[in-house]
Amino acid sequence: MKVIIVGGGWAGSGAAIAARNAGAEVTVLERTDMLLGTGLVGGIMRNNGRFTATEEMIALGGNEIFETIDANCRHKNIEFPGHKHASLYDIALIEPAIRNLLVSKGIEVRLQARMKDVEMDGEKITAVILDDDEKITGDVFIDATGSAGPMGNCGKYGNGCAMCVLRCPSYGGRVSLVGKAGVPEKQGKKADGTIGAMSGSCKLFKESLSKEIVDMLNNTGVAVIPLPEELRKGEGALAKKACQQYALKEFNENIILLDTGHAKLMTPYYPLEQLHQVPGFENARYEDPYAGGKGNSMRYMALAPRDDALKVKGLDNVFCGGEKAGLLVGHTEAIVTGTLAGHNAVRYALGQELLVLPETLTVGDAISYVRQVMDTEEGMTKKYTFSGSVYFNRMQEQGLYTTDIATIKDKVDKTGLTGVFSKKLA
Ligand SMILES: Cc1cc2nc3c(=O)[nH]c(=O)nc-3n(C[C@H](O)[C@H](O)[C@H](O)COP(=O)(O)OP(=O)(O)OC[C@H]3O[C@@H](n4cnc5c(N)ncnc54)[C@H](O)[C@@H]3O)c2cc1C
Repeated sequence: MKVIIVGGGWAGSGAAIAARNAGAEVTVLERTDMLLGTGLVGGIMRNNGRFTATEEMIALGGNEIFETIDANCRHKNIEFPGHKHASLYDIALIEPAIRNLLVSKGIEVRLQARMKDVEMDGEKITAVILDDDEKITGDVFIDATGSAGPMGNCGKYGNGCAMCVLRCPSYGGRVSLVGKAGVPEKQGKKADGTIGAMSGSCKLFKESLSKEIVDMLNNTGVAVIPLPEELRKGEGALAKKACQQYALKEFNENIILLDTGHAKLMTPYYPLEQLHQVPGFENARYEDPYAGGKGNSMRYMALAPRDDALKVKGLDNVFCGGEKAGLLVGHTEAIVTGTLAGHNAVRYALGQELLVLPETLTVGDAISYVRQVMDTEEGMTKKYTFSGSVYFNRMQEQGLYTTDIATIKDKVDKTGLTGVFSKKLA
């Protein structure tokens, strides 16, 4: 039983571990030279409802990936405006830690292996074709290619290629497995109806900031620096962001930095000449994207139709996870959906009933809720995350948000699914 995962971001990595634990031979194909995709420049975990989702996944047996993240955090249990009990992983250490985890489990990780096409038999994918024409066959396929870029989309819907960590000019742009198999995909929209959403943070070299700011970041993980009135972007700019959980007025009135190794600037882009006018930022310089003064990557460009087991509609042996599975934003969200997709790929190969996570758990409720709202026009203009905005409000209204680990374990136990993602099915 061979599961082929296209895309080695957080969703592909989560899917790989779950499929391997369930008993499959697993290959991850990643087009760049590193795993984790947009997660290479992320870092925020466990903020608000992500804490609940993380602990639910740990109780469900999806613990290995979250334990590895927890072990590579620079800061734990910190607060910043609108966000409680967050952890920040170290963006320099996390990729090797996850790659080593995958390899140690016997997962084949193929880097610089970009899928460019598929071979089909009816509604089944039988093989994927790489850029160098190598053909890789498998029994079940998972699309974890994300929704970012490629460059043409960043040019058409954003401010041009900002030279982000995805490095499309060097490795070739994102290619969607589901799209290549002929299934029409959807595009997310902004509140004004235009296509896509701009990534919501940049990284600054810490060395380019004042000692005072760097000390604050190193000691507390957070720096909140008030912006003079004339340098504020206005709340309209916040509406363009993919991560709407940070579209709060505090993010307009202040520069908010988080310490993920570099200084994570919580804004999609900010002209350098203006940034240089803020005390402490006189020498500021962007680390990611290189043109962070002008723009950022565009995302939510290709979303697959799927059911709540994460099986792609219109295809027989294909599952999806991460941003490909809908308008869910974030590493935790990608790991949750990736893990379920990986587990169900093995159930499918064995002819077993597919697992749908119950709606008494926030991880099950989110997967089902996002599928439903994506059928409405208004729903397509929003983004959903455990950590804020629409879906965190829903978590609180439905009584799904708690930070009490014993309560979470008990809730998972009542579903009869404790440890399900760590059990071998074959
Ligand atoms: C700048 C930035 C900062 C962020 N910060 C945070 C944060 O702090 N916390 C948080 O929770 N979320 C954050 N996010 C959001 C989060 O990173 C994503 O929502 C999530 O990680 C998406 O994971 P994914 O695996 O679905 O997609 P991606 O991360 O896009 O991964 C997809 C992978 O597939 C590969 N790929 C694409 N096509 C092919 C192909 N044809 N063949 C082989 N490989 C292919 C890509 O190279 C990539 O590695 C941030 C996003 C950005 C852009």
